[in-house]
Formats: sequence, C-alpha cells, structure tokens
Amino acid sequence: MKQSKLFIPTLRDVPAEAEVKSHQLLLRAGYIRQIASGVYTYLPLAKKVLHKIEAIIREELEAIGSMELLMPSLQPAELWQESGRWYSYGPDLMRLKDRHERDFALGPTHEEVITSLIRNEVKSYKRLPLSLYQIQTKFRDEKRPRFGLLRGREFIMKDAYSFHANKESLDETYKDMYRAYTNIFSRCKLDFRAVLADSGAIGGKDTQEFMVLSEIGEDTIAYSDSSDYAANIEMAEVKTVYTKPDEAEKPLEKIPTPGQRTIAQIADFLKADPEKCLKTLVLKADDEYVIVLVRGDHDVNEVKVKHLLGSETIEMADPEAIKSIMGADPGSLGPVGAPEQIRILADHAVRYVVNGICGANENDFHYVNANPERDYRVDLYGDLRNIQEGDPSPDGKGTIRFARGIEVGHIFKLGTKYSEAMHAAFLDENGREQVMLMGCYGIGVSRTLTAVCEQHNDDKGLVWPVNLAPFDVHLVPVNMKDAQQSALAESLHAELEKQFTVLMDDRNERPGVKFADSDLIGLPVRVTVGKKAAEGIVEVKIRKTGEVLEVKKEDLAETISNILAQLA
Ligand code: ATP
Ligand code: MG
Ligand code: MG
Ligand code: MG
Repeated sequence: MKQSKLFIPTLRDVPAEAEVKSHQLLLRAGYIRQIASGVYTYLPLAKKVLHKIEAIIREELEAIGSMELLMPSLQPAELWQESGRWYSYGPDLMRLKDRHERDFALGPTHEEVITSLIRNEVKSYKRLPLSLYQIQTKFRDEKRPRFGLLRGREFIMKDAYSFHANKESLDETYKDMYRAYTNIFSRCKLDFRAVLADSGAIGGKDTQEFMVLSEIGEDTIAYSDSSDYAANIEMAEVKTVYTKPDEAEKPLEKIPTPGQRTIAQIADFLKADPEKCLKTLVLKADDEYVIVLVRGDHDVNEVKVKHLLGSETIEMADPEAIKSIMGADPGSLGPVGAPEQIRILADHAVRYVVNGICGANENDFHYVNANPERDYRVDLYGDLRNIQEGDPSPDGKGTIRFARGIEVGHIFKLGTKYSEAMHAAFLDENGREQVMLMGCYGIGVSRTLTAVCEQHNDDKGLVWPVNLAPFDVHLVPVNMKDAQQSALAESLHAELEKQFTVLMDDRNERPGVKFADSDLIGLPVRVTVGKKAAEGIVEVKIRKTGEVLEVKKEDLAETISNILAQLA
C-alpha cells in the first residue's frame, strides 16, 4: 500500500493532553484522534491493528466452541428494569429516549439482551451448554475517561456469555475461557497476570481478571513472591466468606427470603417492599460516598459494614449530604429506613450491597436470630484493603508484593444472577424446570491495543509485535525523485506484497521526516532504498533491535521472512 494514499496524520510534538506514553504515541503516530472526552476515531493504522487483535480473539474463542453473533447497542429500558440494573447501574449507563418518549440504554454490556434471547429460544437441557460472543462498541459514561483508549466512554469490547444446565458444565467453560484468554494475551505479546477479582458476594474463586503489568495501571495487584497467589486489592471492598457452624451442634432456624443476591435484585426488592428487612447506610469510604444496603435485622450489621469498608456513617438526615451523593434532590428525608427514602435510594446509584453481613449466609434463606461469631464464623477473606507489602500472603506462602495492572480481560461465573431475575429456565432430563447457570467473559479490545503500545515502545515510537503490526514491512525509498530508487522501490513493493503486507513511503518528503515517521509508526522491518539502488542493494533495519543489514534485492524476501519468524 502506498503511504501517499493512506491517512496517517503524524505529529512532531507531544500533545499536551496526553499524559502516558501509549496515548502520546497513538496520537503522534497517527493512529487515533479524539472527538470528545473518552470518544475516539480509530484511524486506518489502528483499525488494522484492531482487526489483528480481533482475529486472534476469534480464533481462540472458536477453538473452544464459542460462536460469534452481534447484538444491538440500543437496548430497551424494559430489559434493564427486569434485571434491576436500570436502577442499580448508576450514571455510567447512557440513557436516552426515543421519539415516543420510551426509555432506552446504550449497552455497556449485554447480559440483559442475551438472557432475553436465550430464554425465548432455549427450553431444553439438550441445547445446553451454549457459548456466544460478540465484538462490539460499548458505551459507559465513565466518571474519569482517561489515557486515550484505556478508559473510554465509547470503546470496543469482546463479550462472551455461556449458558449451562449444571455447575460442572459452567466450570468447564470457565476453564476453557481462562485458557483462551491466556492464549490471546500471550499472542498479543503482553506481560500479564491472571488475578483473583472482586465478585461481590459470590467469592473470589468465581472470577478472575487478566492484568497487564504496567505502571499506568489503575488497579493494584497484591501477589505472593513465592506462590501463584495474586489478587486485585479491589476485592477487599466486599469480601466475606461465611462458614456455617456445625449444624448438628446448633441447628439454626431458616426462613426463605427473597432477593439476597444481587444489587439489582435487592434494589428491586426494596422498591417492591421497602419496609421488609433492609436498612440503608450511606458511608464514606476513602473519598467516595457509597450507599450500602444491608439486611436490617441486627444493629451489628452497621458496625460490621463500617469495619469492612473502613468507613464512617454520614448522618442520614442531612439532605445536603444525600444530595451530593446522589447528584439529585431526594426531597424531604425521613428517618433511616423510611420507605420513601429507601425507594429513592434504590432508584439511584447503589454502589454496593453488602449482602447478609449478618444473619444470612445462604442464597434464598435467612437464618433467624443468628449472630456472627456466636452462631457462625465470618472470615474476612484476607482483608486486602489494608494489606501492605511485606505482609504474609493470605495463602500462607511467602510475602505480599504490589504491582500495578491494566485490566484487559475479566471472566466471571455469574451463576443464576440474570437467569433468575429474567426467568431463563430449561427442562432437565427429568422434565423438571431449572434455572440456567451463566458465565460472562469480557475483553477490552481497544484497551488491549493501548496496553500493547504501553509495553512495546521506545524513545522513537511504537514497536509493534509482528502479530499485531498494521503492516509487516515499511519500504522507504529515500528520494522518490531519483529514478533508480523509485523504480527499485516500485518493483520491490510489487514483489514483497506477494508474501507480506507492505507500506511504501512514496511521499516526496525529506529523508529525516520519512525516517522519523517510520520509527513512530513502528513496523517490525524497514527496507530503505537509497544510494545503492543502482547496485540492487537495500538496507534492512529491525525496528525492535535497531540492527541494520545490507541485503541484495534477490535475497530480500527470504531475509525478511527469517527476521519476522525470529521476532514472532
Ligand atoms: P474497569 O475496572 O477498568 O472499570 P470493568 O471491570 O468495569 O473495568 P468489565 O465490566 O469487566 O470492566 O468489562 C470487561 C472489559 O472491558 C474490562 O476487562 C476492560 O478490559 C474493558 N473495559 C471496561 N471499561 C472500559 C473502558 N471504559 N474503556 C475501555 N475498556 C474498558
Ligand atoms: Mg468499570
Ligand atoms: Mg474492574
Ligand atoms: Mg471487570
């Protein structure tokens, strides 16, 4: 391809708005342009890289039997109301109305859409398991969009969803996904690590994040220096593991309770029956206000929650405080627990639900008059929030070290969270109706591109891994006005394009400009056609090592393919 025809608007200077290397280089090398905060155009070179990342993802997912589909970004509010996330997702959800004043959302993720699809189409265990994925633009009105594509408000995600008849099947797909993700990020030449992640009330082993190790990462990873223990310290925010006491010793009376699992369900439950058994606390943790809904049976809940979050309670009756938390005027507030107030809170951004901090430790059941410590043990599953470097690792092996990470992927056993709220059920072998189990699995595609740039660059520009480079070869005739140089370059271009992808810099620019652009763009191999064109000799430069070779034109293709093979 000829560079004169391609749109690669390179910049000499470092753009002031770009704080980190990857963002600076993607702008300078002409890969992306910003159109609004957190919203970008992917220029032709970036689009080529995205194609390559997506191709790797497709290969690895199809290899484990996941099939591609494409769901709409525009999603009716009804689906989100059904799952409850219309109320709990908060301001990150981009909401809009159509001409008939009907509410819609622009999908930040697709659990609702896929669950609604599958519940209508799959009714029998014979059709399970099922694994589907898409690669699509997502929308999240992030509070702090930053670092270019790293945290966008419109970004590209691969999201996969799986449906299962039983836990074993979900476990199997989860493991397949883990392997596929490991292959994907390895093939993208990323230095990464899978870490335990926050799964709210479900427990750390049911979800893992793939973290690219990088100073600019927004997540802190606590890892052991002598085992493979690694966890996102975010986990600490809601993290309790309940161990029931010996049932024989003290049988507890249990009663069925609705909606104990999800933020969504609780928010919904609160609205339906706000007086029932929940209590709302507004807490200040670090610099953020969080609204926490706890079961209100025991006063000790409040103490426990405060302890967990290391927080202080804000006076509930203070309308100004509430207003600042919710970004809206809740009207007049009654005492804590007043139905109207709870309804309002449930309608707003509910950040965390601390589920069954006391009393309740089983889905769908509540233990009557049970007290922590007295009746059962509460293990803080390694309270990572306060963990320090040098502390003993929670797995008992070695000491804790910290690293910064960029979350490029996230795999998650959802269980029945959505299938229950949205009634996705099937008939089992015995003709009995059961709720499906689900998993979801995300990869930030545009974020992965940024992470690769962050790990693969030098003073002069980007240094693409062969797998992802927009072209294999940069063919640079030093002087296009020199007849011999341009003739040789044209013939090499035609010849090399049979075997490689080639970008030929056919512009009438000064050599300094051409070389600087070439370094910025970062293709793996540069072929310079210069003074020795008449002798049929060109210069080959390896971008990564800076190594330079003089090569006869007859040997060029073989030399390039050897270099690419070595770099791969
Ligand atoms: P983060 O913790 O960075 O906000 P998340 O946990 O909210 O990410 P998920 O809901 O797990 O994100 O989405 C799946 C993947 O999508 C993430 O692992 C990440 O790679 C990517 N992603 C999420 N938010 C963004 C964003 N604003 N811009 C670019 N990629 C994103
Ligand atoms: Mg997020
Ligand atoms: Mg995250
Ligand atoms: Mg995540």
